[in-house]
Amino acid sequence: QETAALTSRKDEHQSINLSPEPGEASGPNPDCTVAKRQKQDKRTPMEKFGLTYLSVTHLSRQVWCEQQVVYGMEMPQIEKLRAELPIVKAGSSLHLARELEVHDIVAVNVTSREDSWAIKLLNLLSAIQVLQTGGIVREMPVFGELDGLFLVGIIDELRYNSKGELELCEFKTRSQRSFPGAAQRKSHHLQVRVYKCLFEAMIRGEVDKGILLRHLRLRTEQPFGSEVSEHAEKMGFTVHKFGDLLDLVLLNLTYSEIPQIDTLMIEYCYQADRSAIGAEAVCFQEEWLRRELANCFSFWKGQREAEGVDIEEAWKCCSCDFVDICDWRQRKAEELTQKYKAIQSRG
Ligand code: SF4
Repeated sequence: QETAALTSRKDEHQSINLSPEPGEASGPNPDCTVAKRQKQDKRTPMEKFGLTYLSVTHLSRQVWCEQQVVYGMEMPQIEKLRAELPIVKAGSSLHLARELEVHDIVAVNVTSREDSWAIKLLNLLSAIQVLQTGGIVREMPVFGELDGLFLVGIIDELRYNSKGELELCEFKTRSQRSFPGAAQRKSHHLQVRVYKCLFEAMIRGEVDKGILLRHLRLRTEQPFGSEVSEHAEKMGFTVHKFGDLLDLVLLNLTYSEIPQIDTLMIEYCYQADRSAIGAEAVCFQEEWLRRELANCFSFWKGQREAEGVDIEEAWKCCSCDFVDICDWRQRKAEELTQKYKAIQSRG
C-alpha cells in the first residue's frame, strides 16, 4: 500500500494561511497591546488570519491556551522555530516511522490547491479500501463542517481490535517517562473526540459537496497536474479534474461498509528509547465535546476576544514562548495585585 506526500505545498498543519494581510505589518505593533488590537480589528479571527478552515490540532492547542494560538498565528516565525526543537523533531520522526510500518510514502509534486486536496482525497480512498478489508490505516485524513466551521485533521491510526470493533488510536510521544497531566490530557481528549465526530459523519455520507467547496474555495473544473493524474492512475482511478475525484470519494464514503468507531485510545511513548509508557481509553462524552467546541468556535467566529490561561493554570506560562510579551498574563498579574492591595487596605 502507498500513500502520497506533497512535495511543493504545505501539509495540514501548515496549510492555514499565516501570512499577514496585504498592508498589515508582519508582526504585532509593540505600541499596541493585544487587547487593543483585538478591539480595533472588526474582522473575525478566521478572516483576520485568512483561514478557510481550522485544523483539529489548532483546536486542541486552543484548549491548552487560546492566547498562545493567537500569538503563534501573529508570529509564525516563532512557530517555525518551535518546529525545529529536538523534542518536536523527535516526535515527528517517531510518527513517520510508525506510518512507514504500514505503507510506503511516495512524493507527488503538486501545482494547485486542488492538487493538494486531491492527494488528501486519494489517501482517503486508499484508507477506505483498507478499512473495508479489515486492515489497519495510519495518517487518515478526516474533514467536515461542524457548527458552521470547516475542520480538517489526520487520524494517527484506525484498526480493528480482537472483538472486530473499530478502534481509533492517537499516538503521543513524551520527553518524560510518565503520563501527561490533566490539562494536556484534556486537549488530547478533545482531539480524539473531534476525530470520531468527523470520521463518523464522513462514513454516514454527511459531507456536503457544496459546503466543502464553499469553505475550501476549490474549483471542480480544475484539471490535475501531471504527477497527481499519474498517481491517481497508478492507484486505479481515472480522474482528470477535481470535481470528479471529489464525487468519487463522497460516493465511496457513503456506500462504504465501515463501522462506527467503538473505542478511542491514546498511546503514550517515551521518546528517548521509544518504549511504551501506556495507553488511555477515552470515552466519547458528546455533551462535553459540544460545550468545548461551542467555546472554541465562539472565538473563531469573533463573538469574544482571545483568552489566556486562568490563574490556577499560570504554570503553563512557564513553558510558553510568549511569556515575556503576553498581555493576558500581565493583565491577570495586575488584577491580582489590585485585589491583594484591596485586601491589605481592608485588613
Ligand atoms: Fe497563554 Fe500564559 Fe503563554 Fe500568555 S504566557 S500565551 S497566558 S500560556
